[in-house]
Amino acid sequence: MTTNRSYEREQHVAVAAVREAARLCRAVAAEISPEVLAKKDKSPVTVADFGSQALVARTLAESFPDDPIIGEEDSSELRQPESAAILDQVLRHVRDVRSAPGREAVDADTVCQWIDRGGTTEYRDRFWTVDPIDGTKGFLRKEQYAVALALVVDGQVVVGALACPGLDAVFHAVRGEGAFVSPLEDGSGGHPTAPARIHVGDREDSSAARFCESVESGHSAHDDAASIAERLGITLPPLRMDSQAKYAVVARGDADIYLRLPTRADYREKIWDHAAGALIVAEAGGLVTDIHGRPLEFHHGRELTANRGVVVTNGRLHDRVIAAIAELGIGRDTAG
Ligand code: AMP
Ligand code: MG
Repeated sequence: MTTNRSYEREQHVAVAAVREAARLCRAVAAEISPEVLAKKDKSPVTVADFGSQALVARTLAESFPDDPIIGEEDSSELRQPESAAILDQVLRHVRDVRSAPGREAVDADTVCQWIDRGGTTEYRDRFWTVDPIDGTKGFLRKEQYAVALALVVDGQVVVGALACPGLDAVFHAVRGEGAFVSPLEDGSGGHPTAPARIHVGDREDSSAARFCESVESGHSAHDDAASIAERLGITLPPLRMDSQAKYAVVARGDADIYLRLPTRADYREKIWDHAAGALIVAEAGGLVTDIHGRPLEFHHGRELTANRGVVVTNGRLHDRVIAAIAELGIGRDTAG
């Protein structure tokens, strides 16, 4: 059922949605002053998070009004009186991005309603999942972050779109049709650049492999990754990046392995942190499983309930990484 129809229109809308949301994120980022950074003020990420989800949800609603969305955010916090200044900024940025003539006027309540379109929590036969800013720490660091959007049909990710401002690119894929990269900003001159196909690398020699992992040691166990690297004879240091940009760099062959190793036995990965990236890597010829080699299951609601951690490779190195994890006893308590 999912394989014999193309998701051309969905892909087109998804790419447009994450592009527009990334434009808002960049506008918010451009206003982060040294004082804001010095104060460790998190409000820019809050503004961009809500603004990004509002735009993505609105774009989806315009084309697919009946599709539910499982998003990371809801507007309850934003509607509190103490969030008035934040809501003001969200509204200002949403208006800036959506100011084209002929587009509807937007007020604060409308923006909150758009955000709340992402409030679905349960599994559906067809739903979108969005991470409005994946890698919030990277956003504040002005390094890597992503706007991630995926369509899941019958439990399978069928469309994925990943805007990565730090890589100046949008990565996208439709199940069965390959993975592609397009420029982040496109179409302004009326001559959109054709998407370019991407492939994982073909490295088989693990000693020359490059692996990536989270910057945050609370999101992926760096010490376990170092043990795996040692076992595989990997000599290059890890490439540490925030967000699903890690999936993108494996998909285009800049890295061979992405390790996400549990730091706590009770953490469950969130679907919006993986759906888009996982499809893009799979369509680029790579392999994505959990740390026990099980396929990721996107039919349990907001979380990857049946999985622990994530292992992403170019395919050729996959079995060796999974074997190393088992031999080292990593995640033994979660093997289930
Ligand atoms: P990354 O930028 O790859 O480090 O991942 C960012 C994502 O990590 C966020 O979107 C969170 O949903 C997720 N996250 C938060 N806590 C944990 C945790 N303990 N283990 C794994 N991921 C987490
Ligand atoms: Mg995230």
